[in-house]
Amino acid sequence: MWVIRTVKCLLPRHLIQKSEGMKMSSDYEKLEEDFDKKIMDLQDKCLHKETMWMEEYWAVGHSTGCMVRVCLNCNKTLERKEGKGGKNENRR
Ligand SMILES: [Zn+2]
Repeated sequence: MWVIRTVKCLLPRHLIQKSEGMKMSSDYEKLEEDFDKKIMDLQDKCLHKETMWMEEYWAVGHSTGCMVRVCLNCNKTLERKEGKGGKNENRR
């Protein structure tokens, strides 16, 4: 069972649902689906008034070398740019 769980985590959710071809069943999956819907709803309604540029990481301690502008209220990524602009500018 744990092997299946591990593989599932690596795949985008829409691919998992298609490839499995079965309905979500466990309480955990229902909660997860519910949570995702609420987040999407929040991000749709949010006006993204307070945002911040921050470094993007693909794993803990591993930067992608890009900066992302994230809404501080709903956590949505609004913009993405190459390079660590902010940090280098401050060094001059
Ligand atoms: Zn927002």
